[in-house]
Amino acid sequence: MSLGERKAAELVIINGTLPETAGSVNVAVAGGAVLAVGGQDVLALVGPGTRVIDAEGGALLPGINDAHLHFIASAMTRFGYLDVGASAASSWQEVAGILAAVAPGRDGWIRAHGWDEVVLGPGGAEVLLELRPDTPVVVFDQTGHQLLANRTALEAAGIGRAPAAPAGGVIGRTASGEPSGLFVDAAMEMITAALPPVPREDLRSAALKFQRLLHAQGITSLTEPGLGPGGKSLLGGACTTDALEVLGAMALDGDLTVRINTLLLFAGTGGISADMVGNGLASGLQHLYTQQGIDPRLLRIAGVKVFADGTPRSGTAWMTEPYGEQCSHGSMVVAGSTDAGRTAELNEIVRLVHAAGLQAGIHATGDAATEAAVDAIIAAQATDGRRGRHYIIHGAFSSNDSLHRLAAHDVGYSTNPAIRAAAGDLIRRLLGPERYDRHQPLNSALKAGVKLNIASDSPVTDTDWRRTVAAAVTRATVHSPGRPDDPERITSLQALQAMTSLPAWQDHAEAFKGQLAPGMAADICVLDGAWPAADIDELAERQVAWTIAAGSVVHEPGWVSAGLDRT
Ligand SMILES: [Zn+2]
Repeated sequence: MSLGERKAAELVIINGTLPETAGSVNVAVAGGAVLAVGGQDVLALVGPGTRVIDAEGGALLPGINDAHLHFIASAMTRFGYLDVGASAASSWQEVAGILAAVAPGRDGWIRAHGWDEVVLGPGGAEVLLELRPDTPVVVFDQTGHQLLANRTALEAAGIGRAPAAPAGGVIGRTASGEPSGLFVDAAMEMITAALPPVPREDLRSAALKFQRLLHAQGITSLTEPGLGPGGKSLLGGACTTDALEVLGAMALDGDLTVRINTLLLFAGTGGISADMVGNGLASGLQHLYTQQGIDPRLLRIAGVKVFADGTPRSGTAWMTEPYGEQCSHGSMVVAGSTDAGRTAELNEIVRLVHAAGLQAGIHATGDAATEAAVDAIIAAQATDGRRGRHYIIHGAFSSNDSLHRLAAHDVGYSTNPAIRAAAGDLIRRLLGPERYDRHQPLNSALKAGVKLNIASDSPVTDTDWRRTVAAAVTRATVHSPGRPDDPERITSLQALQAMTSLPAWQDHAEAFKGQLAPGMAADICVLDGAWPAADIDELAERQVAWTIAAGSVVHEPGWVSAGLDRT
């Protein structure tokens, strides 16, 4: 479409600015795409029916793409479950008061989320065990690693007086040795297995509210990294195949306005095997959306999430050098009883995913796990010479050698600066200053030519992308302001690309999104001021004024307060 053809625009944004260049810019939009980006010439596209938005000098950004955001889990923790987080309750008595007053959900259960041991202290089990004898109650903690159940829930789950804890799990006990109602990590499944599926109406209602919140933050694309049969044990059992189907229904009904790539989850956070992946793929679940005729630019199943290892915090990151209080190397969490066996299993899992034409998104935090994941990807790609755009998730301690291999084989890298900002001090304590300095080697990755993207991992950190960008630029943590000479800092423009054009590559979508240019999808985030290239601290003061998704206004000034409160 040349300007000479004078097709009238549906929407024109005037008086915008671009982060990279000085001067004012106007953008015309029609048919869901950007028609033109330019100066006065763009105004010729304003017709009688054109909506004109004055950006008043605000920065025009490509719509933000958070390439690792647990959409369903975040939606449910924010809008689905009853909130007993730090802002709602500051003592166990207040938690009990909230639980005592609420009506049970559609399925007869009370599900709540957000208690924080750091805020509330111990003693929750004693307060909650005998509460609400009429109703099963389950209350997840803010980290997703612990839950409390009342006696009625214990009975519903068939938990007797002396249950044995599974490997990797802990059951809290009373003084007499009976279960107290506290279940940690792998033991949580003893309760969640008994939970009825989250009602689909609840999933959909929370998803719609959360989508609106994301648009208010300028987000127009995301990767939901884990829905499917393995989601039953995660975060209240909401991340299941039901959730995949709810997203599909939203897309078919025209209610989905944020673009979502999903990764399938065939196992929980540990124990994935090639058999599980093989059987999962044989079920054909990966074809769900294409069979329904859903536009893959809006909603697609992109690949499979694979947990290669765990986290440094829990001692389950697989590192070449020992770390932590146990002074161990950790290990991978895929099926197998030896490092060699687990490595072979991982290779077979990635081979299966690659052969199915899907992406492997591999959670690897330790340097040894990252190496094993890169080896597995390179081996899988060697079978047919095709580059699958597989990627490493977190990759927190990637060596320079790993980074160069990532770049050479077109393997992506998705990491989370806001997690470093929140947990960096703990990581320094566990792993020592040397490894801490190399933690999340953002600049080394870009210098090596790696397709790096930065993401929130919400609900682990907030979806506010300004914090992720600022954390990548400053490398600050809670207790340290960040060093100006930190070699792993990146610039604010690099960080912005890592939340726009680079994740579009991960989505196989760089041809239609991730840049503000003619012919690209009209996904646009308009700030209320210019891009603060010189002083990243100013980014926190910028608000998202407008958000455009596929050419439609999905957020505008004044909408912030409407509809975003918890219900
Ligand atoms: Zn995650």
